Amino acid sequence: MKISIIGAGYVGSTTAFSLLKEGLASEITLVDVNKEKLEGEALDLANGLVYTNVSKITYSTNYKVTKDSDIIIITAGANQKPGETRLQLTDKNVKILEGIIKNTEKYNKKSIYIIVSNPVDILTYKAKKMIKNSKKRVLGTGTSLDTARLKYYISEKLKVNTKNVHAYILGEHGDSSFPVYSTANVSGRALKELCTEKELEECYKKTKNSAYEIINKKGATYYAIALTVTNIVKTIINDEKTIMPVSTIPEEYGIKDVCLSVPCIIGKNGVEKVFKIKLNSKEKKLLEKSRKTLKKYL
Ligand code: NAD
Repeated sequence: MKISIIGAGYVGSTTAFSLLKEGLASEITLVDVNKEKLEGEALDLANGLVYTNVSKITYSTNYKVTKDSDIIIITAGANQKPGETRLQLTDKNVKILEGIIKNTEKYNKKSIYIIVSNPVDILTYKAKKMIKNSKKRVLGTGTSLDTARLKYYISEKLKVNTKNVHAYILGEHGDSSFPVYSTANVSGRALKELCTEKELEECYKKTKNSAYEIINKKGATYYAIALTVTNIVKTIINDEKTIMPVSTIPEEYGIKDVCLSVPCIIGKNGVEKVFKIKLNSKEKKLLEKSRKTLKKYL
């Protein structure tokens, strides 16, 4: 199993560390335009190989090194500065993504792509349009991170394990995301019975503002997204068929012109299938609002 990570910044190098720790690949490859940084990160990771089940760390500024990757993770590009929205990164990062895919596609024809760079929904859509047979094998991390954050804030409120919280954030990975509370539950008990409207609103607000808060306090977010990507990789490699919200073109919801997150079954081919869930009328309107927001930027 060979996994290539494009972009060895905060997110890329932390993801590499997390994959290394899980021993999910025999080879982890890093690519970045910044040669010094790339060499520094690769060397630091490679120095610990003896403690892992990964046998090789390879790296280069030349994309040939990615040849025959099973999975390609794209984390290259500008990140949000304090106060900046994800959508404001569109111009810079679309150009970077297009350059990357032209290169990775020269050396790879079957890889599964996981897009992480922001705005992740816009970049996932662009990637899907550039890559052949992209329906299943190109996905964005989308609101899987937001969903993890929501589960954390609800679990904190109710003093239960995060794994017992079943709730989604769907739509844009950004300011027009929304919580699906109509079907949310804690091990079978409706969330709406356990929390007040105000408490639920607070949990969503914390979720939505989490990235802004972290960026204001430490400059970037990378641990939780690295764990999120690792979880997606694990699901693909083990063909788990785990359901999680990822960014794709959700035709099953009548949406054909943008990528956004809905629950999907993830397995060895990537997005095996959209797992359609029932949304109430308010949630349907919020999904449409996310679609319109993303369409405007596309
Ligand atoms: P960073 O600045 O630390 O790293 C970005 C890296 O990309 C740098 O090392 C840079 O040299 C490299 N790069 C730039 N242009 C390149 C190119 N053309 N080819 C190869 N490498 C190139 O930024 P970061 O904090 O690691 O964030 C990376 C991206 O991930 C940002 O877009 C950020 O918004 C996004 N992000 C997404 C999520 C999510 O949930 N999807 C979460 C956190 C961060």
